Amino acid sequence: MDDDFKIDPWGSTTLLEDDYDRLIREFGIEQITDSLRLKMHKNRFIRRKIIFGHRDLGLIFKAIEKGQPWAVMSGIKPSGPYHLGTSTTALEIVEFQKMGGKVYYGIADIESWEDNGIPWEEAEKTAVDNIADILAFGLDPSPDKAYIWRQSKESIVQEVCFKVSRLVTLNMLNAIYGERTFGLYLASLIQVGDIILPQVLDGPQPTVVPVGIDQDPHLRLTRDLTRRNYKGFFLPGATYHYLLAGIDGSEKMAKRHPNSYFTFNEPLESIERKVKGALTGGRRNLKEQKQLGGEPQKCMIYKILMYHFEEDDEKLAKDFEMCVKGELMCGDHKRECVEKVLKFIKAHKEKKKKLIDKARTLLNIE
Ligand code: SF4
Repeated sequence: MDDDFKIDPWGSTTLLEDDYDRLIREFGIEQITDSLRLKMHKNRFIRRKIIFGHRDLGLIFKAIEKGQPWAVMSGIKPSGPYHLGTSTTALEIVEFQKMGGKVYYGIADIESWEDNGIPWEEAEKTAVDNIADILAFGLDPSPDKAYIWRQSKESIVQEVCFKVSRLVTLNMLNAIYGERTFGLYLASLIQVGDIILPQVLDGPQPTVVPVGIDQDPHLRLTRDLTRRNYKGFFLPGATYHYLLAGIDGSEKMAKRHPNSYFTFNEPLESIERKVKGALTGGRRNLKEQKQLGGEPQKCMIYKILMYHFEEDDEKLAKDFEMCVKGELMCGDHKRECVEKVLKFIKAHKEKKKKLIDKARTLLNIE
């Protein structure tokens, strides 16, 4: 990472392990301590160390202890169906909701226009699909447990954007994001509105925003503008998860590498082929695997299971150990992974079909 490195929340940053350490040091991200992990152990992403860092997560724990309200806020840019990478945040939100947080979920259609040139009508269709997915993941959409909005229709995010913009200069945005179009700068200020919407709508309360580390610039900007514009509000906190690399060994999941990810809408045969082709941490042959053991920490099969498709923590730990000791073979493990993924996706598709109408209602689409 060079000296004037900036993380790009709109997509072209590839992060190596050293970069994570440096981001933690330079931007004041706190690491999840063992004691905090224990306190928040109900969240499987924290328990499994997929979430490695945070800002102000302790405030959420205090609110849980005292039975006070707290918010979990996130959103999705409706630029395509959920895939293995983008679904991580959605699943994290469901975990936080189960812990007692009210979910605030924004459809970032202004951002999908500014970043990808996607017209409203197309964004609308994708948004319905995305919301049906998150409902199928288990989100409870009852009004006291969730609030869902579209940026283009939500007056609060627009009002916040106008209010905070008074204190924003081009230099500030350039320092955070580098030189970008005005549309992306505007989208970042709209996103400030998204992040503090829970407190504008329902009063000051601790808020956690689960994100990939690449979204941290938005958090820094929002915390700064909340501090300067909204007296009595909590500075929005965050949790940060490791970004999943491409399952085929590419640096990241990207459309230009179609085997690097699969979507939840893809035909099962295509998903099966991609999982079978995933990069493992296995050795060159069975003999070496038995002698040296594999490297599950580098293995995408292991990560696919750990992030999404293995519910049993003990099984994960056991597989890790067996792999390292050379007692688990990649062929067998891959077959098991394919089976679990396909079973999950099949059931998910069935659930989702029945939730499309609900998604349209939640988004106020006729
Ligand atoms: S045995 Fe499993 S975890 Fe170990 S390297 Fe092979 S596929 Fe990955």
